[in-house]
Amino acid sequence: MNLMFKPNTAKQTMSLGRSFVRNSGIVGRTFASATRQSPIDLKPEEVHAEIDINLSTQYRDIENGKLNLDGRALITYYDGGNMNFKSYHTTSEWQSLQFHFHAPSEHTIDGKYYDAEMHMVFQGITHKEELAVVGILFEACEDAPKDQFLESLQLHKLAQPSSETEIAHASPGNLFDRVGSDENFHYQGSLTTPDYDECVQWFVFDKPLKVPPSQIKDMEEFWSDMNCEGCVQGNARHLQTVGSRVIHKVKHTCKGRVS
Ligand SMILES: [Zn+2]
Repeated sequence: MNLMFKPNTAKQTMSLGRSFVRNSGIVGRTFASATRQSPIDLKPEEVHAEIDINLSTQYRDIENGKLNLDGRALITYYDGGNMNFKSYHTTSEWQSLQFHFHAPSEHTIDGKYYDAEMHMVFQGITHKEELAVVGILFEACEDAPKDQFLESLQLHKLAQPSSETEIAHASPGNLFDRVGSDENFHYQGSLTTPDYDECVQWFVFDKPLKVPPSQIKDMEEFWSDMNCEGCVQGNARHLQTVGSRVIHKVKHTCKGRVS
């Protein structure tokens, strides 16, 4: 996950995000006392089923947005997503801040890396100091149809080292509808970029979305020559120890698009 500090408000994220990426020198720092770092390997056979945890999300279409490429970040600031998280008797509300990409994936399933991973980042409304991230894994497949959401971001128009493209129209709701799974791995984790704050509720879809190799290539090219410190490859952080954490399977109902 690519968020370089713990935000207090969406506005603060908007104003500080990019400069923080440039100015931070704390890359690859170690955490002697860290117990909930991300990403991790998600092992289906070790997952605990939880019947009383439920997640629902919905997304407003993007009109006249921007996609920014700045070093390690390929990011769109986006406040059109809402999340509702019910855990037993408590309900919390969340609002999206931004989404961004990693190639290859940061999380693995049963030790397997996927070709890319998108992180939709939410900030707690009920618990302002917490973040939640919904992760979608992408897998290159020759026969897969082009994904319209990725296509609308026009990744091929971006150029290193720093640039920005206009997004005329894009529908994150359509992307989530296409994932074809309503199950997420859920665990307590951290940011995957400095300062690696342990403030993230992670939700990662249990099945990858298949897209043509050309759409993966658009993402890989940004980081193919970059050897980010602390990364296994590209801009994906090394896997972290699961430790005593429990990974749950939770139901994710995507309500699709909101007008
Ligand atoms: Zn990320």
